[in-house]
Amino acid sequence: MVNQEYYNLGTAPSVIRALFAYGLEQTAKLGADKVYDYSLGNPSIPAPKKVNESIVDIVNNVDSIALHGYSMAPGFEPARKAVADDLAARFGLEVKPSELFFTCGAAPALISIIKALTVNSDSEIMAIAPFFPEYRPFVIANGAKFVMVPPDTEAFQIKLDAVEALITPNTQAIIVNSPNNPSGVVYTEETLKGLAALLERKSAEYGHPIYIIADEPYRELVYGGVTVPFIPCIYKNTIVCYSYSKSLSLPGERIGYVYVPGFAEDSAAVFAAIAGAARIMGHVCPPTLMQKVIEYCATERPDLVAYDENRELLYNSLIEMGYECAKPDGAFYLFVKAPNGDANAFSEKAKLEHNLLVVPADGFGCPGFFRCSYCVANDMIRRSLPAFKAMIESYK
Ligand code: PLP
Repeated sequence: MVNQEYYNLGTAPSVIRALFAYGLEQTAKLGADKVYDYSLGNPSIPAPKKVNESIVDIVNNVDSIALHGYSMAPGFEPARKAVADDLAARFGLEVKPSELFFTCGAAPALISIIKALTVNSDSEIMAIAPFFPEYRPFVIANGAKFVMVPPDTEAFQIKLDAVEALITPNTQAIIVNSPNNPSGVVYTEETLKGLAALLERKSAEYGHPIYIIADEPYRELVYGGVTVPFIPCIYKNTIVCYSYSKSLSLPGERIGYVYVPGFAEDSAAVFAAIAGAARIMGHVCPPTLMQKVIEYCATERPDLVAYDENRELLYNSLIEMGYECAKPDGAFYLFVKAPNGDANAFSEKAKLEHNLLVVPADGFGCPGFFRCSYCVANDMIRRSLPAFKAMIESYK
């Protein structure tokens, strides 16, 4: 006998993985130039030069036993200090190394926070559609209730009236992901201030803090001079979840952190509960080599030229063809309205007729749209444009 819930999760089909697998099959049959795969959010730019240089330097110069040994569970002091100093310098806050807990990327960071804030089976965690699909199993399998805020399908900001209608005395937190996967939209300061005011009012009404879980793996991936507001500067009861998977193109290295600001309500208890949650998930320490890399590279930023060129090319071309898209200011996703409103049918037809692989957004809580991950070769985008054109023409 096995746990049925986990069995179901382990065997549930993933639309994204299925598309990716189909792309690999077709590539083997027809050649890479005949397949246009926009399915996965895997960075397509290399890690900054300094990251690779640091790895070589560390491997050559740091004592091998220490380098491959355990660290303390929340990470080594120098790595925590490097990140604390960088956050403090950029956002004008006092950030202490002791407020940071290093994790193996954003996914375990999120799960630790969700576990820490789930006080009983009535606890509710909200997410704003469209959202990263893993939020749902992260919340539900942990025994809390997943509450979905319906999408604003015009500007892809946050429908504050919908948030207000869904908050209950059991609301523990709301996950805010900006720049957003899958919409590519950056929530404006005005939107976030509105959310902060609402949460402050509701926290006072219910007599306990409602936290924002700021899931920020795309914080540095932003274009055209747009700034991404740092949510702890707007709402004090924010717990930040960060990853270097996208910003330093290191998804396979599994490194990220949780930041619990000292000024957040019950911050010491929240931090301790996150540490306890990480412990029972088998967290021992994040990779020591990667902690060392972050110690040296905490101020490194990605070179976004290639993503920006892709964004401009895909967005402008699709708009010119008559598609409707959310304005993509950040991350590396373009979120497109399916021409007749049925994104599943669009995705299937595009796949079978053109080997054009786009992800229908039902799993993101936003039916009728599809996601294109433009972390791909620019040349692939150019070659895919006739397929997009043929697809929209076929709906006219
Ligand atoms: N949050 C969002 C919004 C993501 O898009 C992803 C990965 O795609 C994650 C979290 C998980 O990232 P990580 O690789 O750091 O676990």
